[in-house]
Amino acid sequence: MEKKILHILETVKDPEIPVLSLVDLGVITEVNVQDNTVLVKMTPTFVGCPAMDYMKAEVENALKINGYQPQVEITFEKPWSSDLISEKGKAALKKYGLAPPPDSKLFTDLEILETATCPRCNQNNTELKSPFGPTLCRALYYCHTCKEAFEQFKPV
Ligand SMILES: [Zn+2]
Repeated sequence: MEKKILHILETVKDPEIPVLSLVDLGVITEVNVQDNTVLVKMTPTFVGCPAMDYMKAEVENALKINGYQPQVEITFEKPWSSDLISEKGKAALKKYGLAPPPDSKLFTDLEILETATCPRCNQNNTELKSPFGPTLCRALYYCHTCKEAFEQFKPV
């Protein structure tokens, strides 16, 4: 039953990164099914992320379309971390041309921003250009090997 729900939730993508489902993003923290009612708990990624209301509405829609009664709750109970992005999600990010976030437990805050692997050549010959990319959750880098800029999903 829950697998079926997760399958439905996998069709809901991050509005900023259309290749990444909310399940792979790690924002779905709990799913409870009772008869036809599905309780979904979501945790916000970046504080003040304007996409959260949109994601909530999309989750509700996806469940309704499949005949369920959604109850979506946004809660900070389990704080989100970029480490919650699944391996599948990280692979999708990379394919999309966005460097996946490095494991936040391995670096200090300062080091982590300076650590980026180019999604094109897989090398670390990179330089942080701006900690603020086109959206809050991305930082801008330059790869000296490819001589091209790329974005990294910020580790949190
Ligand atoms: Zn490169």
